[in-house]
Formats: sequence, structure tokens, C-alpha cells
Amino acid sequence: MPKDIGSMFENEISEELAAFGEPSYRAAQVFKWVQSGVKSFDEMTNVSKKLRKKLVENYYLSSAAIEKKLISDYDGTRKYLLSFHDGEAVESVLMQYHHGYTSCISTQVGCKMGCTFCATGKSGFSRNLTASEMLAQLRAEQEDAGIRISNIVLMGMGEPLDNFDNVVRFLKLVGDDKGLNIGMRHISLSTCGIVPKIYELADMKLQLTLSVSLHAPNDQIRSRTMPINRKYGIGELLKACRYYIDQTGRRISFEYAMIDGVNDSSANAQELASKLKGMLCHVNLIPVNTVGGTGYQKSRMDRIKSFIAVLERAGITATVRRTLGSDINASCGQLRRSYIKEEGSE
Ligand code: SAH
Ligand code: SF4
Repeated sequence: MPKDIGSMFENEISEELAAFGEPSYRAAQVFKWVQSGVKSFDEMTNVSKKLRKKLVENYYLSSAAIEKKLISDYDGTRKYLLSFHDGEAVESVLMQYHHGYTSCISTQVGCKMGCTFCATGKSGFSRNLTASEMLAQLRAEQEDAGIRISNIVLMGMGEPLDNFDNVVRFLKLVGDDKGLNIGMRHISLSTCGIVPKIYELADMKLQLTLSVSLHAPNDQIRSRTMPINRKYGIGELLKACRYYIDQTGRRISFEYAMIDGVNDSSANAQELASKLKGMLCHVNLIPVNTVGGTGYQKSRMDRIKSFIAVLERAGITATVRRTLGSDINASCGQLRRSYIKEEGSE
């Protein structure tokens, strides 16, 4: 079985090459080629033919092929369906902000968490992505759009903390100056709240931004829309968030999808405010994206405004997230769902 060389650190490649009797400086060269995104080992022009042959026999290079692409007429947001060597496909979204390009990538094919409002949650789970497959999404986008990505959000398909080791490996590789060189301060990781993994991440003291998908002010509502809450309730989750802030000094961003009649009343806002009071945090309100079959509708704008007003009176900053690419269903999971339907016999 060929090994995934694109997910290896330089020292790991060094150990591999030592087994072939290669000097250690070769590892630096090979690592640099791999992280620069070469598509074949033959492109490694300063590596001997003999070693290239060994590499071809023992390793593979991940790539992401564009299966579908949608470009928003409003704001140029690009949404991609990208497939890997085994035919599995995920979504990535490339957005342009005034400060540069942000890519929203996937960390798993599907998701096990089953949140009721989420298109990804509805289509089940196939497998974890490797670090090199996360990197391949970024490279495919850069190449297609002819741009350089400056910011990354792990908010595509999948629950990053349910694929912890591969995600941490990705975070380290993407920050390497021989590779894409995108530092932790330019990366956000969004989680539905896998509490033990939040502690583990906090102890690593990375300078990334943690986004927590809260979406409800109490266990009763949250357990109804997010099954993970039956395992780790809001009290436990917020305790882990406080620990994260203490360890890293970083502000947490709470995501809150506004669902008409479910979690958007002033009483809900008050309850949320009382729980978040005094925390180094920001609340992002997102009018829920209607996904077929869920029966959920977006909250009315006046409800969203009063919700914000309640939070602000309690000293908690809140904004409504600007929705980019709304004409192309840019929220993740929806493009893959339609693709699976087309591929199947339905
Ligand atoms: N699994 C992680 C990251 C991927 S989901 C998480 O849940 O945080 C990225 C974000 O999109 C999360 O905040 C998620 O709650 C939100 N989301 C999912 N479906 C949505 C929908 N239909 N409308 C609005 N936000 C949604
Ligand atoms: Fe998974 Fe996040 Fe969707 Fe929940 S919201 S099902 S955790 S991808």
C-alpha cells in the first residue's frame, strides 16, 4: 500500500528516506516539493531518478479534482465539489473579502453528528479526510481561481474535532513556510462541541480562532437540534470554552443559527446573555439556511435585531453574519447532496 507522503512532516519523510539509505538533506527537498503541491514525483527535478522511482513505488500524492463549480453572480463566491482518489467528494467554498481570500474547507466526508438543521448531517458519514486532502482542497481552489488564499475556516463538511489528529496535522503543515505558509492567526476551527477535544486543543495553546456552534440557549432546545448536546450539555461546553479562553487568551466566537420559532425569542436571547455574560466572546447570528426536509425557516429580521439588542445590553457583542454566495447555496452540504442524488438512481 503506497503511503500518504503529503500528510508527513519533514522529520517523518527523513525517517522514511533514511530507510532507503538517502542522506537527510534529501528529506528537506522532497518535503518542499510535496508541500509546494507537485502533482507527480517526476516534477521533483533536483531529486535523482533512482529516488523518484522509489517514491513512485512507495508513496502517493493526494489531489482534489473539481467535479462541479458554482460561481455566485452577486459576489463571486466560488463553491466547489472536489473528489479524491476513491471517488469520495466534499465541498469547499472560496470567498473574497476586502482583506483577501478565505477558504472554507471540509474535514470529513459527511458527518456523524446529525444536527437536524444541517445538510451534511443529513447525508451521513463516509470517512475522515487526511491532512493532505485538506491541503489539496486549498491548492485546487488557488489553482482554479488563480489567487492565493490568506485565511482558512474549517467550517465545511464534517466535525473537525471528530477527526482531531488529521486536523492538527493539517494545521501544522499548512503553517509551514515550505508549504502554504498560512499561520494559526488566519485560521478558524468550528466545532459542535466535543468537550474533551476542546480541552485537548486548549492545552496545545494554538493561536487559532475557535468557533463554537451553540445555536441554542439551553439544553432542552439544543438537545432537540444537536444530538451531541445529549452527551455534553451546555454547562459542560461553556466550562470547556472558558478553559480554552484562559489557556489561549483567544476570544471565542459562538455561532447561533436563527431558526424561526425555535430559538429566536427575546427570552431565548436573555437566557443566552446570562450564560455568556463576562466571557471573552463574540456571537455570530446566522439566519438559518433552509435545508430541504427540515421544516426550519429563517427568523424574521426584526426578531434578529431584537435578539442582538438583548445581547448588547448585557455587554455581549453580536453581529449578523454576512451571507456570501446565497444564490449558490454556499452553506456546506447542499451541493454534495444534490450530486449524490444525481449519481444515484433517484
Ligand atoms: N461541524 C462543525 C463545522 C462545520 S458546520 C460545526 O458544526 O461547527 C459549519 C457551521 O455551519 C456550523 O456553525 C453549523 O452549525 C452551521 N450550519 C449547518 N447547517 C446550517 C444551516 N442550515 N444554516 C445555518 N448554519 C448552518
Ligand atoms: Fe456535523 Fe457541523 Fe453539520 Fe452538525 S452542523 S451535522 S456537527 S457538520
